[in-house]
Amino acid sequence: MKFNEVLENVTTYEAGKPIELVVREYGVDPKDVIKLASNENPYGTSPKVTAKIQELAKNMFVYPDDSMYELKEALANKFDVESTNVIIGSGSDQILEFCVHAKCDKNSKILMSKTTFAMYEIYGKQTGSQIIKTQSHTHNLAQFSALYKEHGADVIFLCLPNNPLGECLDKDEVYKFLEEIDKETLVVVDGAYQEYASFKDEKKRIVPKDLITKFPNAIYLGTFSKAYALGGMRVGYGIGNPDIIKTLYKLRAPFNITTLTLAAAIEALKDEEFVNSCIAKNFEEMKRYEEYVDAKGFKYIPSYTNFITILFADKFVSKEVAQRLLEVGVIVRDLTGYGQNAIRITIGTKEQNTKVFKMLDEVLEKLK
Ligand SMILES: *Cc1c(COP(=O)(O)O)cnc(C)c1O
Repeated sequence: MKFNEVLENVTTYEAGKPIELVVREYGVDPKDVIKLASNENPYGTSPKVTAKIQELAKNMFVYPDDSMYELKEALANKFDVESTNVIIGSGSDQILEFCVHAKCDKNSKILMSKTTFAMYEIYGKQTGSQIIKTQSHTHNLAQFSALYKEHGADVIFLCLPNNPLGECLDKDEVYKFLEEIDKETLVVVDGAYQEYASFKDEKKRIVPKDLITKFPNAIYLGTFSKAYALGGMRVGYGIGNPDIIKTLYKLRAPFNITTLTLAAAIEALKDEEFVNSCIAKNFEEMKRYEEYVDAKGFKYIPSYTNFITILFADKFVSKEVAQRLLEVGVIVRDLTGYGQNAIRITIGTKEQNTKVFKMLDEVLEKLK
């Protein structure tokens, strides 16, 4: 059968491996599996959110509120903007998709960092757009700027901080770069890990209202999947100027966000204490990873997120390390497919991390 020919160049996204797979293939007891491959919040769902979901569970015969009034109001309040500045998506992934489809066709160009969130390229290729990447793996604005001058771009993706490498640009340098960008270019600032970055270093903080006021062609994306611990509910948001938001809504299917999802997100926003305590613990545990990696003589990329990327240089093959860890029930991300001999590990709980160090010791000893 013939399909839209642009799809020939589209690869499917490879998600982190699920716990069930490790149980099935390697016979690991489910309670012993440590899943640190998708940057989920390891401290579980806030009890307030769970209680709300249980309370609503009996009302599932009614369609959700398609205006999403309450969640939009809650987000507008949190970010000091109007609800006309807010779009909700089934994960911020869906809004990334809307951004690309709103701007791009086969004559378009999309500019991004060499090693960044895989979905930017996948959505881009769905429209047949040309993907332009920097030479540098981590975000390098001098290279972004040179490529923009040479080729122009319909969409620019900035992942602040960047997944899967963990680095983050300073707000001031981002703003300076955005001044060079034509107002016809849509700039997507993906803030999936902004809560972590701005906690660690105030210079990294992007304030959505500030961003879209100074740069009306920018949109800020946030998600509930990471710090807010709602990966299973699929909910994210965009903050942008009303003309952008209105256009993105044209791409939305009705009732794309479920009743439970809307309620869970509203509750999660009320429980900032839970989120902040998770973020604080994240960076305490991150220190233990840094010390571990230093002691082993490897390198890591200083991270502003809830994961750390460990570079093996020519000491070990990351693919083998990830595979051996998987066999003993520790799921991490191998970055070979991103052109890096590295693994990315989500920072787990104290107990999980202690176990990861022990397993990693054993695996490295065997691979030596
Ligand atoms: C996790 C992630 C997202 C979005 O996740 P959703 O679960 O779809 O909200 C977006 N960008 C980056 C860089 C991410 O890591």
